[in-house]
Amino acid sequence: MFDPLAWIPEQLDLLQAMERRRAIHVRSTAQGATVSWKETKLINFGSNDYLDLAADARLGDAAREAITAEGWGSGASPLITGRGNDQARLEAELAQFEGTQASLVFSSGFAANAGTIDALTDRGDVILSDEKNHASIIDGTRLSKATVRVYPHRDVDYLENLLKQCGTFRRRLIVTDTLFSMDGTIAPLPELVDLAEQYDAMLMVDEAHATGVFGEQGHGLCEHFGIEDRVPVRVGTFSKALGGHGGFVVGSQTLIDYLVNRSRPYIFSTAAPAANAAAMLAALQIVQKEPQRRQTLMASAKFLRDALRKQGWGLGDCRSQIIPVIVGTEALAMQLSAKLFDRGMLVPGIRPPSVADGECLLRISLSSGHTRQHLDTLVEALEELRF
Ligand SMILES: *Cc1c(COP(=O)(O)O)cnc(C)c1O
Repeated sequence: MFDPLAWIPEQLDLLQAMERRRAIHVRSTAQGATVSWKETKLINFGSNDYLDLAADARLGDAAREAITAEGWGSGASPLITGRGNDQARLEAELAQFEGTQASLVFSSGFAANAGTIDALTDRGDVILSDEKNHASIIDGTRLSKATVRVYPHRDVDYLENLLKQCGTFRRRLIVTDTLFSMDGTIAPLPELVDLAEQYDAMLMVDEAHATGVFGEQGHGLCEHFGIEDRVPVRVGTFSKALGGHGGFVVGSQTLIDYLVNRSRPYIFSTAAPAANAAAMLAALQIVQKEPQRRQTLMASAKFLRDALRKQGWGLGDCRSQIIPVIVGTEALAMQLSAKLFDRGMLVPGIRPPSVADGECLLRISLSSGHTRQHLDTLVEALEELRF
């Protein structure tokens, strides 16, 4: 029989032969510092739930109240009838929290990045993008008809040279993760701000992993560096430290008005349920009232980085709650991950396409819910597995 998809099994077999075929796992308990996969209880070093909020009862309570009042579905895109009181309040609170005129909520951080880059740039413009930017940024540059120049990871000299050559483009956009999701490194934001101003470029940063975590008030790395006012386009997510779902852009009212009119993933996608907005309002309150969560997280991260560096593991220039144990080959990363699993720890091995060939790693993500005992268990296991 004619099967137009007959080529797919071959492709899957190819991935299988390379041991790169991925399986989807089922978590059988709530997200948290420990989870279960089927019957296996694991210390969880594989979530982005940095502030241990995903299963916090206060988020659940807020969501339940919203469901009682408004039901579940939003029923339309935000521009038509999908945006209710909770969504509007969330955007107002978020702008206040981030100290900007306005904010716009997208159905995911992926959509926020892709939809903002595409809206801000077009043919005749140039996008300057860090080589380790998140996939959603890369896809945004692919959606846009602008010219794309990729610069080596955090290399401001290289970027400056590119900018010198890009004066003839109509507009320039520099785009970067603030905290890089695979290697836990931090973008040179003060230098990027200077370059953007010097070379008349827009600067867009993605705080996905830094919102709620960095900065005195938990606004992210722009706050940490004291440059919030000099970054015109800031993207973040509700899906990591804030324990929920969705993405956002914060900035001037003009920027937000423009995105409302021009960002296709915003315009053509159904608004998130009111219950998610209500839960995220609760999460924003918690982030402001409980700074001890990010302080605990930072202290745990420093403890673990110091312990692993002392054991001789290569962590690169990691300075955050995302700790890469860089081991090189894919086989080694996956073996170590499996051995840690056998010892009751979930530590994902990261391999292509998430990282370049030969740069495979174990990716430890910490949460404020991890206890000292959880960390000690991991340190002891990695001491035993050291090669
Ligand atoms: C996770 C992530 C996103 C996407 O956010 P979602 O809300 O999960 O779609 C965007 N940027 C970075 C750097 C991320 O790590």
